[in-house]
Amino acid sequence: MKKTKKQLVVRAFTPIAKPLNASIQKNSTMLLLGEIPYINGEKTFNTKVYYIKGLRGMLRHAAMSLAQDCGIEVCHTSEKTELKDGTKLIPNGFHPFGACDTPCILRRIFGSFREESRISVYADPITSISHKEYNTDVAVQRVHILSENRIALSYEGIPIQDFRESYFSGYFTFSIDVTLLTKEEIKFLMESLLYIETLGGGKNAGYGQVKLLDFDLLKIEVIKTVKRNNGIYKVNEEIEAESIEFDEIEDWRTILDALDA
Ligand SMILES: [Zn+2]
Repeated sequence: MKKTKKQLVVRAFTPIAKPLNASIQKNSTMLLLGEIPYINGEKTFNTKVYYIKGLRGMLRHAAMSLAQDCGIEVCHTSEKTELKDGTKLIPNGFHPFGACDTPCILRRIFGSFREESRISVYADPITSISHKEYNTDVAVQRVHILSENRIALSYEGIPIQDFRESYFSGYFTFSIDVTLLTKEEIKFLMESLLYIETLGGGKNAGYGQVKLLDFDLLKIEVIKTVKRNNGIYKVNEEIEAESIEFDEIEDWRTILDALDA
């Protein structure tokens, strides 16, 4: 089996982010995926792994900002145009979600109610490992994870409403599968990365700042073969990756104009 795909691999850093994944009663924690074993020296330890939620939304917002900057009308995240009291929900430069007759560039990439998205965004789960050296069977990203018990209300020094929040800090990588996109759509997405600002909640309080470090566009070839070994069929997977070089990232604009004309 041979499969070829195209992937944008993005490296970023956050000093502190709270992806606000799961809420259990008054606790807002990151989405726990489970525990995995890791080996340090001769010993086996367990570590909790978490999911970074919100990467796709972060990317969608970045893409909206780029389109807005270029004066290209695209889908907003809201399908409603205004609230009952007349408050407008759709800023200038956007149309309600999925309302474009000819799908706009955002809808072509991120989909709408009826159309599936043509990209997928994913990241290896994050984990906090205190040992310097570690070995795991599955791919994880090592970051710093911290939890804090906070008190929102207290009465004569006794907490009457406390809650727990989780954060992570560190370098992280995420990938966008762009196999189904045209060259121009990939370029649009690449430029969108420059507009990435925050991930998760609490941005007014300074949480979730994301610094984009670098990215690469890869052509990845996965070759899977099966071999009988010791009475069972063993699957062997080989992965080859090479960089795809694009020049003139910004020329998606002119080509898009020509397509729309
Ligand atoms: Zn649209």
